[in-house]
Amino acid sequence: MELPTTAVLTLDQLAPWSSPGPALAVLGHPIKHSISPAMHNAALADLARRDPAYSAWKYFRFDVPPEQLASALPRLHAAGFHGLNLTVPHKILALDLVEEIDPAALRIGAVNTLKRTATGWRGYNTDGYGLACALQSELGIPLVGAHVILLGAGGAARGAAVECLRQGCASLWIGNRTRANLDALLTLLRPLAGATPVHGFDPASPPAGLPANAVLINATSAGLKPDDPTPIDLRLLPAGLKVFDMIYNPPQTPLLRTATALGLPSANGLAMLVHQGARSLEIWTGQSAPVGIMQAAAKYALGNH
Ligand code: NDP
Repeated sequence: MELPTTAVLTLDQLAPWSSPGPALAVLGHPIKHSISPAMHNAALADLARRDPAYSAWKYFRFDVPPEQLASALPRLHAAGFHGLNLTVPHKILALDLVEEIDPAALRIGAVNTLKRTATGWRGYNTDGYGLACALQSELGIPLVGAHVILLGAGGAARGAAVECLRQGCASLWIGNRTRANLDALLTLLRPLAGATPVHGFDPASPPAGLPANAVLINATSAGLKPDDPTPIDLRLLPAGLKVFDMIYNPPQTPLLRTATALGLPSANGLAMLVHQGARSLEIWTGQSAPVGIMQAAAKYALGNH
């Protein structure tokens, strides 16, 4: 039986699994709000216009609770899946479950893309790439030489911080609500920082030494819910700030609304989602991804939520 790419699937629907061609999927919990299937199936349809071999490729979504991930990965491999995306809460858990890990993903300590090998899965992390592309395309910021003020110390902040250091940012200032989580991130980054200054701070009282003309990256989840507080008071930060919020749903967070009111250039996380997805598709297919089509499909899917 062929299953629809729009449904939320569970592992029980794997047996008997039949897909007319190579299958891809995103695994998460919850997963029903994911717009990745819409974005990737639009991209695959475009690849198929250039090469009919891609007309059989399909991208699905599976609701997989964390305690099922260890059994899900071998089952999806046995069912013939070619590639997977992992989202909350699987990105760190999967590190111990894959056979090979790309060195960049190992530095971050999280994987969001798995590619099939003969005997298992190879893990990659495309979030940092997605962030760097989005900063360039939406705000005209190259990470090399940038002063970065990063908010958050969770998985997304970890990927962002490693990418900033890898690309040669001029300085990195990390603010997080919970000091212990901030300290854990600073400890992880220390061996990667080289000569780049890396500082931690309390976002409730930003220090005087924060740089002017910086990019502020919100990698906290504050803003996902309508009654969330803003993660920092933008009026306390030095001049010349540009603001990037990783959150894309809702498209306007309180942080972004404040940035607009203060006349600061700003962008939400949709382009990051699109570029990390484009890189995943390139890893799976070896083809360059139709980024514009993926962006349009993602925007359309968000509009339908
Ligand atoms: P985690 O749960 O790993 O980390 C959450 C972070 O947010 C922690 O630093 C936490 O601080 C902080 N936080 C949570 N609530 C608040 C609050 N009310 N006020 C201040 N800080 C808060 O999540 P992830 O790192 O995986 O994801 C973070 C965000 O990035 C999410 O919104 C996610 O949707 C987005 N994201 C977007 C992507 C994209 O492609 N656009 C890709 C990946 C993530 P504390 O340590 O104090 O608990």
